[in-house]
Amino acid sequence: MSNETLLEVEGLKTYFHIEGKVAKAVDGVDFSIDRGETVALVGESGSGKSITSMSIMQLIPSPPGKIEEGAIKLEGKDLLSLSEREMMKVRGNDIGMIFQEPMTSLNPVFTIGEQLAEPMVKHQGMNKKDAKKRAVELLKLVGFPRAEETVKEYPHQLSGGMRQRVMIAMAMSCDPKLLIADEPTTALDVTIQAQILDLMQDVKKKYNSAILIITHDLGVVAETSDRVLVMYGGQIVENASAKDLFTNPKHPYTVGLLNSMPDVADEKERLESIPGTVPPAHNFPDGCRFAPRCKHAMEACTEAVPKLRENEPNHHVRCILYEDQGGEKE
Ligand code: SF4
Repeated sequence: MSNETLLEVEGLKTYFHIEGKVAKAVDGVDFSIDRGETVALVGESGSGKSITSMSIMQLIPSPPGKIEEGAIKLEGKDLLSLSEREMMKVRGNDIGMIFQEPMTSLNPVFTIGEQLAEPMVKHQGMNKKDAKKRAVELLKLVGFPRAEETVKEYPHQLSGGMRQRVMIAMAMSCDPKLLIADEPTTALDVTIQAQILDLMQDVKKKYNSAILIITHDLGVVAETSDRVLVMYGGQIVENASAKDLFTNPKHPYTVGLLNSMPDVADEKERLESIPGTVPPAHNFPDGCRFAPRCKHAMEACTEAVPKLRENEPNHHVRCILYEDQGGEKE
């Protein structure tokens, strides 16, 4: 894996202004992704992970949403300084996105072939004949044995798993540097899930690109990711290699997530769920946002939001239990 930084997100704040209230959906997020890396962004729904990915793509509905602060740099270029026209080029050429529900992303009135060919004609200047040929190749690559037929079909003629594979082919059609996959396998059965995840890894290796995978499923993380960012209350609460996170989780929220993960090896094991729910983004508690659900909470936890600190090399955690260990936030 190369250590070349591909994406840097610095101090990102994305707020929603609704009915006189401010929902701080993403509230000071910092991370980076290297070329060749697969990074997972995990957390329960409402933790801010999808808003983070939509902020990177600048697909936040505005109003009511707004990126208030921060920088999002792709190969050093700040995407937030680009015009919508320039950003459309980035979305077509540099960053591919796979959404959770492919039916809403595919246009029902165009064939699969037309939809695959269009961005290649538009963004890569390919002629229509070559783009059609490439569409067939891409469909074969994502596992359609009769791709010549599939290009003539419409989205409703395909199963959910097939549509998701079409979305991967579409996201790959411009050889993106970064593939963002938001819950890419949630609606699929386990066998198809595994195929889709393998396919994404193959594509990443082939193009030396990187993947940001957004998921609430730690099983998916264990299978795919080099590094994990755990999000809670619009902030990253732990950032570690996947190996460290699974063997040595530190933040009480991460520990809770791991304890609630089904262990297929032990069917009788009772799963512990984390009590309570993610607080609404317009009404975070004072201090640590996890405090109302944390069994280690103490008075000091409610006084100030803990900083994200490097507790061990390349292992950052936002919790006062670790404040005496390790260094300051970088
Ligand atoms: Fe729990 Fe306190 Fe750590 Fe927050 S800072 S996770 S409440 S121990």
